[in-house]
Order: sequence, then C-alpha cells, then structure tokens
Amino acid sequence: MVKNEKSQPVRLEHIVKEYVSPDKSVFRAVNDIDLTINAGEFVTLLGPSGCGKTTTLRMIAGFETPTSGDMFLGNERINSLTPDKRDTAMVFQSYALFPHYDVFNNISYGLRLRKLSKEEISRKVGAMIELVGLTGMESRFPTQISGGQQQRVALARALIMEPAVMLFDEPLSNLDAKLRVNMRTEIRKIQRKLGVTSIYVTHDQAEAMALSDRIIIMNKGKIEQVGTPQEVYLRPASVFVADFIGRANFIKGEVKGRDEHGLAVELYGTVLHIKNYADKQFTVGDTVTAVVRPESVTVGTEGQFEGDIVMSAFMGAHQEYRVKLGDIVLDAEQLNPMGGKLFAENEHVSIRLHEDSIYIVD
Ligand code: ATP
Repeated sequence: MVKNEKSQPVRLEHIVKEYVSPDKSVFRAVNDIDLTINAGEFVTLLGPSGCGKTTTLRMIAGFETPTSGDMFLGNERINSLTPDKRDTAMVFQSYALFPHYDVFNNISYGLRLRKLSKEEISRKVGAMIELVGLTGMESRFPTQISGGQQQRVALARALIMEPAVMLFDEPLSNLDAKLRVNMRTEIRKIQRKLGVTSIYVTHDQAEAMALSDRIIIMNKGKIEQVGTPQEVYLRPASVFVADFIGRANFIKGEVKGRDEHGLAVELYGTVLHIKNYADKQFTVGDTVTAVVRPESVTVGTEGQFEGDIVMSAFMGAHQEYRVKLGDIVLDAEQLNPMGGKLFAENEHVSIRLHEDSIYIVD
C-alpha cells in the first residue's frame, strides 16, 4: 500500500445514526459501528439497498451528523466540523459538475478558491488532466463530453485538492457495464499511485472485490464482516455474507467429530472432512451450514453423492448446471466446458464437493 504524507486514517467509534420521522417514530439507519480505516487504504462499504452505507459515508463527509459516537480523521475529532472544514473530498454518483465551466475550470475550481497562483493552477491541472486521461479536452463543457469523461472530471476535481481522505458514493453506477470495468481499474490505479485513503460505497460486489484492500459488508445498519476480498469470499462470517459475495450453495449438515485436521461433517449421509470453518467451538451434534461455491462442485462420473441434472447451460467460459441432490438443488460450474465431458438435463450424475474449499458456518 502506497502512503502519502497527507493521507490520514479514519476511525469510527460506536457510531449511531437515527432518523426521526414526522410521526416521531425513530429509525436506526446505522447501528453502533466501530471501524478503523488505515492511511492509504482503499476500503469499500458494500451491502444491500438500505443497509446504511451511504449514511455512513455522508457522516464521514459531514453531510449528516451522528446521533452518537465519535469520528476521527487522523487525531482530530470531526463530529461537529462542517464538510468544508474536513480534509475530505467526495465524488458523487451524479458527477455534479458546474455546467457553465469548461473541463479546465471545473477541475481548477477548488484551487482558485484557495487563491493559488495562475502558474501553479495551470501546472497542477495539467498534471491531473494527464493522470485521469483527459488531455485535449480542457476547453470542452460538460455537455460536450461523455458520461465516463464527466466522471473523470469529477474525480480530477476531487483529487486535485489532495485531500486526506477520498470519498466515493457509487461513482460508476451511471456508466454502462464495460466502461464501469475500465473506470474501476483506473480509479484503483490512480489511488495506488497517489496513496490517498479512500472510502467507496457500492452495492456491486465485483466492483468491491476489484477495488478494495478490505471490504466492509453491512447489513441492517451493522457491520457483518470486515476483510480482504479473499477473506470475505473464502471465509464468510455468516450465511448473509456468503450469499452476498459471489454465489453459494448452502447445505445443512451435522458435526460428527473433530480433530486436529478439522471437522467431520455429515451431509446427506456422507461424512466429509473439512478444515475451514468459522471461529466457533463446534461440538458433536451441532447443526451447521456448509458454504459450497458453484466452482467447488464437480459434476461427473464419480463423487461422494449422486444426483440428477435439472439444468445444463453453456455460458462460454463455463458450463452451468443445477443438480438435484436429495431435497436441495445445487448450482455447479464447470470451467473450460470444451475440455471435458458435458452432461445434459435429466442425466443421472455423480457429484463431488471439494472439501478443501468448503467453509462451515454456524
Ligand atoms: P442504497 O444502496 O439504496 O443507497 P444505503 O445502504 O446507502 O442504500 P442509506 O442511504 O444509508 O442506505 O439508508 C439507510 C436507511 O436509512 C434506509 O432505510 C433509508 O430509508 C433510511 N434513511 C436514509 N436517509 C434518511 C432520511 N433523511 N430520513 C429518514 N430515513 C432515512
């Protein structure tokens, strides 16, 4: 992780945000959040609609005030500072460019307020325009550039202030799918280069995986898990997280034993030896849930289980199956479909679950 001198950590302690409706009922949008974001780190707040991620970001920006708890930027408590007094800059979903300014003047706006010299403004804007790939567009107006280019202007306008913390509120959601992927790669590249602490809100899990040092998964105003993309995918703290990040099959099982190698768990009459499981004292007789990713289910002619194909579809990079096993239907993915035997609907098959990639949650 690159760190620049201006970058600061952000710390939230017991942050609560309640909204009071006109009928006086109280709704707790953010419910007692503790979180430390390191200087130079890129974190994503990820979760379903209404989980409180935007409210959390807006409190860090100063657009909302916490009902209780403490927020720190570096060593400074920022709870009661207005947005302009905080060393943060935000990129919005709706770009929010000044329509009557050209690209150069949109980007230089904050520097002009800071009364920098013409030469310095020109030098900084020039470097920024090059960094975000807008060379040659300096004198165009927002209506004369594409959505992706407008978002680059918004990004440049925020970055040029050299804030201690960059805040991103779903900045790519108005762009088409291909452009989103390109822009997220660029945002990550620029963030790495500058080393600015970044907090990014999205409900797109692929975006979160691609961008983040750590992902903060929220649900109903609370943090469900904080971890690297690998941790949240491979070791989800709950069924909610496993279901939210990627695709997952959930198979109920019973703990039959445990030793230094892991847990013996019975699934549909077969005992599997599983070495990855949640931090918990599982004991014999516990009912548990096995999280099995589709790519960890192999459909073939030998395996621990038998089932019937109910759906088989060629998806290009993989063959997708749905296989009936007992009273559940498993999703399975066979990578490189042209490299092996394919199975058709209604075929009776064997199913292998790869024990190494199964994860057990409570
Ligand atoms: P989305 O992805 O849909 O933007 P989110 O996770 O960002 O969702 P928030 O915008 O933080 O969610 O909202 C969290 C909850 O707080 C929601 O249930 C929302 O309806 C509620 N809420 C947000 N702002 C207000 C407000 N000003 N007054 C009352 N309730 C609000």
